[in-house]
Amino acid sequence: MPPRTSRAIVQTAPRRLELRELPVPDIDDDSGLVRIEACGICGSDAEQYAGVLPVRLPVVPGHEPLGIVERIGDRAAKRWRVDVGDRVAVEAPIPCGRCAACRGGRYQVCRARGFLFGHGYVPLSEPPGLWGGYADYMYLDACSIVHRVRKEIPAAIAVMFNPLGAGFRWAVDIPRTGPGDTVLVLGPGQRGLASVIAARAAGADTIIVTGLGRDAPKLALAKEFGADHVIDVEAEDARQRVRELTGGHGADVVVEVTANAPEPIAEALHYAATGARIVLAGVKGFKAVPEFVSDLVVVKELTLVGAFAVTSRGYEAAIRLIESGRVPLERMHTHDFPLEDAERAIQTLAGEVPGETSVHSCLRP
Ligand SMILES: [Zn+2]
Ligand SMILES: [Zn+2]
Repeated sequence: MPPRTSRAIVQTAPRRLELRELPVPDIDDDSGLVRIEACGICGSDAEQYAGVLPVRLPVVPGHEPLGIVERIGDRAAKRWRVDVGDRVAVEAPIPCGRCAACRGGRYQVCRARGFLFGHGYVPLSEPPGLWGGYADYMYLDACSIVHRVRKEIPAAIAVMFNPLGAGFRWAVDIPRTGPGDTVLVLGPGQRGLASVIAARAAGADTIIVTGLGRDAPKLALAKEFGADHVIDVEAEDARQRVRELTGGHGADVVVEVTANAPEPIAEALHYAATGARIVLAGVKGFKAVPEFVSDLVVVKELTLVGAFAVTSRGYEAAIRLIESGRVPLERMHTHDFPLEDAERAIQTLAGEVPGETSVHSCLRP
């Protein structure tokens, strides 16, 4: 039996986290409770922490949870095909399942219960409060979406379903990447590396990754995961390098996953081949893009697509890849933090802790 209360990190204001004890909720026929084994730390967690995301406070953050089903309602067990003791990866969105977006297969943009209604984003004021993964226990709503993951995989690796799922959706599914495509990934963070892994798995031809000088270790990792070329945009003329590496054509697919900086979006238009697909997935704190030359979109007939979150197809591909053991994912995992160190975990990921470079990191309650 789970205890009556659960430790949880609560964000009360921008840059303010508190460790609290919250009541563990009862569940009904349609809901469940997971004991969190690991919760991934995301680039957007740093933005949520800084207060630039429109999230209502106070809230238990954490939208990349992996855990063991501790309690489950009968109907929920049938619907999710999981039982007590199973390990599950939980998707962030909690869609309504009935609105036009959900019925049209675009549940990740469901707004029926409000913007950003999902694990890690629903405020404490909404019962039962334990909605986020920065806690010992998390509530599963009737509309939560879970995927079973084999238990032999170390939790720190299994929890990579989230960034890897993003790689499959953003670098493969959305731009329809396949054999023969040159894929350019802007930004070598965990999502950039996941994009390399996914594009490689999808049979992309040439993969190029850009980063800054301080990203050298991450660019080296990108090569280990299958990138053919890396570009340090501070030391090299990136437009010229992309032209050289693509025989003058440019990239067929550009995946923009840099954090906070809007400039790479304007640059992406220069790197793109005629007819290229550009996927925008890095959030920029709602800043405008300087030097955006829209004529390049016109004359090259570019397709710019936004990618918000990940969908089940991406997660399923990621979980299969994790379970296959084919890729040395542990090379990407840099930090585990106990729950009470959530603040340091976020600051480490954001690069605010001198001497620490985080690629993939997670909380281990
Ligand atoms: Zn995330
Ligand atoms: Zn909906």
